[in-house]
Amino acid sequence: MARHLYGRRWIKTTLMAQEGACQLSIGLDVGGTTFAGGVFAAGELLADGSWSTPADKNAPAVVKALADSVHQLLTRANADISEVRGLAVGMPGNVDRATGLVKDCPNLPVVNGLNMAEALQNRLGQLSVFVANDAYCATLGELRYGAGREVENLLMLTLGTGIGGGIALNDQVLRGPRQMMGEIGHMIIVPDGPKCGCGNIGCFEAVAGKQAVVDLARRYLQYGRESRIDDLTGGDPAEITPQVVAQAARQGDEVASAVMNQVGYYIGLALCNAIVMCDPDIIVLGGGIAAAGEVLFAPVRQTVKYRSPYTGFDVNNIVPAALGNKAGIYGAAAVVEEGLA
Ligand SMILES: [Zn+2]
Repeated sequence: MARHLYGRRWIKTTLMAQEGACQLSIGLDVGGTTFAGGVFAAGELLADGSWSTPADKNAPAVVKALADSVHQLLTRANADISEVRGLAVGMPGNVDRATGLVKDCPNLPVVNGLNMAEALQNRLGQLSVFVANDAYCATLGELRYGAGREVENLLMLTLGTGIGGGIALNDQVLRGPRQMMGEIGHMIIVPDGPKCGCGNIGCFEAVAGKQAVVDLARRYLQYGRESRIDDLTGGDPAEITPQVVAQAARQGDEVASAVMNQVGYYIGLALCNAIVMCDPDIIVLGGGIAAAGEVLFAPVRQTVKYRSPYTGFDVNNIVPAALGNKAGIYGAAAVVEEGLA
């Protein structure tokens, strides 16, 4: 039986529900392009949705969009705001959890300097509002409700346009005093490798993020090798995506498999380094690139198996994320539960 079902928080939440007190939690997961939200009762998702983020407008427009989504979610869940215990917002950057201040969101700069908690409280009527980092929320979501619900120590990676990470130790997600803990995307993997968005060279993100997968496939194809990738893209290199490469690899294509093996090797090396730093029970891989499945997981596991003999880490404990792109909203709801516990 899942550990958290008998945990203190679950019992407390259940008792509150029985008393008829406010029992719903709302979690939002904000990205630079879209944001998602969900209404939860004791960790169970009642209704969810996703919307466009008005990133090109201004801070009040973003706050209004988030507040409107809360009302829409409540309508979908057939619930009233008086039943809500609290709201938590996962933001794509550096935030001050104690005050609710958004410090630096590189992909959503219009909200930098905004006190998101206060702004939402002003629109939603003094609801308890928590603001947290999005990678923190995704890691907490998988820890409480997803692939990590049976363990207390995990490392989570989100492999997408960027590479995010999160570390849980002793059942708590850690971020560090400067919010840097788990920023594994900027671990240096190839010292003289390609340039990273952060200004450094050879970062993990620069050799295994979305653009790296696409660039690698284009480089292999420019020598005229036959590949299923060309069939899937109509021969247009601009149409190559990690999903296309993964699909071709699953169909046994050699070029696509070579790309996956190379990217899987880099991911595996990063995991070997991370294992000796945080000693996880399991490693959870999420995000669009991890959706490739076994064609990626096989080279990742093989690399960890052969390059981490000292730790003896069981590579069967490298697992896919269980909550998919909903980890962030589950985790945000858990932030409410724990913030009010
Ligand atoms: Zn970097």
